[in-house]
This record gives sequence, structure tokens and C-alpha cells, in this order.
Amino acid sequence: MMETAMLVASILAALLFFWLWKRTRSVWLAYAHLSMLTFTGFILSLQSYCAWSGNALGMCTWLVSKILGYGVPIAVVLAFVVGWLILPLMYKKRFADLGFTHKLLKLVPGARLWIVDTAKPYAFALKKDVFITVGMFDILTMKEQEAVLLHELGHVRQKTSLRKFTTAIMRLVSPISAFYTHKVLNSEEKDADAYAARMQKTNKHVLSARAKLQVYKV
Ligand SMILES: [Zn+2]
Repeated sequence: MMETAMLVASILAALLFFWLWKRTRSVWLAYAHLSMLTFTGFILSLQSYCAWSGNALGMCTWLVSKILGYGVPIAVVLAFVVGWLILPLMYKKRFADLGFTHKLLKLVPGARLWIVDTAKPYAFALKKDVFITVGMFDILTMKEQEAVLLHELGHVRQKTSLRKFTTAIMRLVSPISAFYTHKVLNSEEKDADAYAARMQKTNKHVLSARAKLQVYKV
């Protein structure tokens, strides 16, 4: 049965995205996981509807073929909308105005900083928004916080968030590309670090922030 295969595939994909999200904390993987879960629920409700209706007049077969034909592309579009518009809003817990961040944010026009209420220290950039957790401010010195913010602003300047998404998808679809995409992601991290070091006129704080964060890595 085609639906059963789709069901198994979507459950496996949802689990895979969740596992990857846990490792990387990438927003893209979070929404990929959520959309796969939604899709699983969708197929399940379709199956129970078919069982209940007993496929009268072949209605159910017709419905399934229509849903697989139109539903999948619609789900992809919906996932994109959720990823770009809704998930970032969920992350935007609090607009940050921390004094020292003010002049740094001015370096990249349109960039904004949001504080995420999580003890776990991590930071990421999405489009022009930079997200830093409360935990990050707890463990880093002032200069290291500056380095982290500059690193993320480096990503915003390089417009890497979309590229990061593409490389993440590439890694999923084609395992052969993993080596190459790893190199791409690495060089983007290096560029962002270089930007922070250039702005601070030393790489001391970037390095010490990295060393501290290494301890908290899952
Ligand atoms: Zn980075």
C-alpha cells in the first residue's frame, strides 16, 4: 500500500529531523521535523477515514491519489512559510537592548538581536535576526559576548542562513556531498570568526568563547 509506505517514510523522516535538530539546533531542521510530523498525522487521519468509509464508490482511492499529487507540494510550501515566518516569531521571545549591543548591531543595517529564554548556551542567525540564549550571557565575559554577537552578525553580513539551509538539505539527500558541505559550513564559521576578530582587533575573545562553548556541546 502506497499510504503505508508514505506513513513509514514520514515517521522516519520526522525522527531523523528531530535527531539532527537536537545535534545542531538549526531552526530549519526544527520546522522540517514539525512539517513531517504534521504530514504523518495527515496520512493517519486519511487512513482512518478510508477504513471508516469503506472506500465507497472508490472515493478513497481517488482521494489518496489526489492528496499524494497535490498534498505533497502543498506541504512543502506550507513548511517553507512556517519556517520563514512562524518559527522565527516563536524564537523572538524578547527584543534585546543591552546597551553594548546597540553600537554593534549598527554595523549591519537591519540586524536585530533577540534573547531566547533557555539556559543552554547557543546562538544562531536567521535572515537579519540574531538569537542568543540567556545561558550564553551567563557563562561568557562581556568581551566574549561581543565576540559571539559579532560572529552572528558576520553570518548576517555573509547572508549564510539560506546557504546553510541548502547545505543541510544536501547533506540529508546526498550523503556523498557530506564531505563537501562540511567544508562549506566550516569555512562559513571561519569567515564569521574572522569578521568578529577583525572588528575586535584580536581573536582572543572569539577563541576563549569557543573554548567555553565546547564544554557545553551535546
Ligand atoms: Zn556560526
